[in-house]
Amino acid sequence: MENIYKELGISDKVYRFCKEILNRLKPRFDEIDQNAEYNQLKVLKAMQDNKVSEACLLGTTGYGYNDLGRETLEAVYASLFHAEDALVRPQITCGTHALALALMSNLRPGDELLSPVGKPYDTLEEVIGIRPSKGSLAEYGISYRQVDLCPDGGFDFEKIKNAINEKTRLVTIQRSKGYQTRPTLSVGRIGELITFIKEIKPDVICMVDNCYGEFVERQEPTDVGADMVVGSLIKNPGGGLAPIGGYIAGKKSCVENAAYRLTSPGLGKEVGASLGILRDFYHGLFLAPTVTAGALKGAVFAANIYEKLGFKVVPDSNESRHDIIQAVEFGTAEGVIAFCKGIQAAAPVDSFVTPEPWDMPGYDSPVVMAAGAFVSGSSIELSADAPIKPPYAVYFQGGLTFEHARFGIMKTLQSIVDAGLVQLD
Ligand SMILES: *Cc1c(COP(=O)(O)O)cnc(C)c1O
Repeated sequence: MENIYKELGISDKVYRFCKEILNRLKPRFDEIDQNAEYNQLKVLKAMQDNKVSEACLLGTTGYGYNDLGRETLEAVYASLFHAEDALVRPQITCGTHALALALMSNLRPGDELLSPVGKPYDTLEEVIGIRPSKGSLAEYGISYRQVDLCPDGGFDFEKIKNAINEKTRLVTIQRSKGYQTRPTLSVGRIGELITFIKEIKPDVICMVDNCYGEFVERQEPTDVGADMVVGSLIKNPGGGLAPIGGYIAGKKSCVENAAYRLTSPGLGKEVGASLGILRDFYHGLFLAPTVTAGALKGAVFAANIYEKLGFKVVPDSNESRHDIIQAVEFGTAEGVIAFCKGIQAAAPVDSFVTPEPWDMPGYDSPVVMAAGAFVSGSSIELSADAPIKPPYAVYFQGGLTFEHARFGIMKTLQSIVDAGLVQLD
């Protein structure tokens, strides 16, 4: 074994250091495997209950009327999330699009949107109009209110209560911390928040941005009162095979509104040819619980390695996990760049290129990114990125198999050791 790692550029020291850490993680990994087992059966049951057949794997063209595969897949998602209905489409281009669709279709001029968990994901700032943007909710006369989390990461119940008013129509709750330092919300905590909000205003729509959270736990937000969950198919639920797409699952009325907005009033879910994409959607969903488990083990493995080396890691080595993102604070630009070089060098595609920081549109500092993915931009595949600014933290996620995530993390350590930033005994 050491020889094949050596052929791929891993030194004896790095190999042994990582192996020792892995040996201690067995109980933790057993727990993750049990979740994957549960979720695998949940997916299988949803497919069997909805009679997925060989014909469902085919696609339609043109208008896409009576698309058996599309309709069945949406029924599978609805079952999986214990929801009334779902919209699962390649015409939803990404996670931001799915979230924008859910918001724009369920809010009307004069309504107010509330985020009781602080600032939402960067790309939503323009959707909402926090940063002025063409076509934002603000342009349509939809106002926005935000209540930040308490310094300890708890909900600020008093302020949330005061923020809910007669205009409040929809509450958006982001499950994953995304690229922030707050803790990710467990499904249990999301449930507490929704219960609190519904006691104050029962008819408010509670939407959860479910990106990066699917299959990390046994329950999903719709099991604890969410009216809508929204996510991207090039993250967890696509299992690495979906090449595009997004989903919305939840109350029939919410999904219906989204469908009329995605296609057209009067048409809704009845159109939208699936072309040849459904096989990958089903196949990816079937694999998603174990793929997510592999990514999760990779995140835990990395947290344990870098914590042992004295770096701040979020979540830490022992914390329970509610999404697949791992942050490591290196404190220097050299550290995050070396880490990203390691991830890139471990990729199945484009392993020979060197990631460099660049001034990406929409960011206020240069960003370095590493990804060598089969699906462009897919972040269920092993990937990392870091803004070049204090605290010099790298955010990484994914890995279609744990074996690959493991190797990628070993490569990051090798890269950091080779750069002289860390010494192993
Ligand atoms: C990825 C992500 C999004 C946006 O998804 P894109 O597919 O990148 O547009 C929104 N919210 C969270 C929490 C995410 O992780």
